[in-house]
Amino acid sequence: MACFSLGNRYSPVLHCVSIKVYESMILPKLTYGLELIDLPKKSMYCLEAAHLSAAKQIQGLPPNAANIAVLPTLQLWSINSILAFKRLTMLWHILSLPMTSVYKVIVITIFMWLETLPREKSNMYKGPVGLMFQTTVEFGLNHYVRVAMTSGIYSSMLIWKRRIKYVLWEREKYLFSSQTIMYRHSQLYADCIVVGQLWVWWRFCKFKPTYTRKCKVILRIVSGNHVMRQRRCKPGTSAFCQDCCDMVDDSVQHMLFECSGLSECRQHAWQHVLNNSPQALAKQLECMSNICKTHLILCGYGSYVNEWCDLYIVTCNFVCDMYALKLRKYNHMYECVITTFTYLYVCYITYN
Ligand SMILES: [Zn+2]
Repeated sequence: MACFSLGNRYSPVLHCVSIKVYESMILPKLTYGLELIDLPKKSMYCLEAAHLSAAKQIQGLPPNAANIAVLPTLQLWSINSILAFKRLTMLWHILSLPMTSVYKVIVITIFMWLETLPREKSNMYKGPVGLMFQTTVEFGLNHYVRVAMTSGIYSSMLIWKRRIKYVLWEREKYLFSSQTIMYRHSQLYADCIVVGQLWVWWRFCKFKPTYTRKCKVILRIVSGNHVMRQRRCKPGTSAFCQDCCDMVDDSVQHMLFECSGLSECRQHAWQHVLNNSPQALAKQLECMSNICKTHLILCGYGSYVNEWCDLYIVTCNFVCDMYALKLRKYNHMYECVITTFTYLYVCYITYN
């Protein structure tokens, strides 16, 4: 974790450097040999917590950020999927050995024996081969493995890994979509990312590292860790925007395109975005509703396009300028409230 302390405010360590260090130095040590052990739930929970905490630090998210809004932007698996991948890769390494290998004979014998048992009994076998068997069943690969064992024809490791990755990403997508239903604030996040792909704004940062801090701000907005939500969590506060008299819900869409209290900043910055957009996109943006525009710009226009680098820069500036102004207004209002309460308290003490 020492790499997180490198860099400074103006040129922080790139998230792609941090993630490389994490994936090559920390994660292998964290999960070394665990694919052969049936870990208790408590240990799995601790490992998952450490994994999520590292991903939050890399992306500049607060420790209390929702867990579902952490891994997909970095294209990372959960610990459970990482262990499953290691287990299935190891199985195929053993099966690719010549038939004279005693390890291969043992694995095939135990697999064939477990195939004959009912599911409840085979699940009770917790040895390394038993865990491999249960993982193949869990991901629906047992039929493929059985056919390979009986025919003696094993595909190359490359094809096997490709198959595992496809299955694991499908499971991750399924888990993500089922979790977002239960978590209201993650709806914008779910609309702005694609599970299995690196987030567009992180891809942009690879080419423009100086925008890393601004992209972290965008991620905070997308994942719901923004000032509008923080304000709402305080007791006695209204859900309406406090910067204008529109009496509407204080949302990301309202901040970016609707709030009349932030119009002076918006007009100039948004015009820059339109000027730097391709002509067809600019026309489309002008015709879109505010909610669609919000989703489109926060998801980085769908997919990363190298030629649109200037557009990403002005969009990044637009979102961050609007948010900075919102934050300044919020801090000013908060200071005024505290000053008023302090003054009233002093008056009360003086006259009583
Ligand atoms: Zn407003």
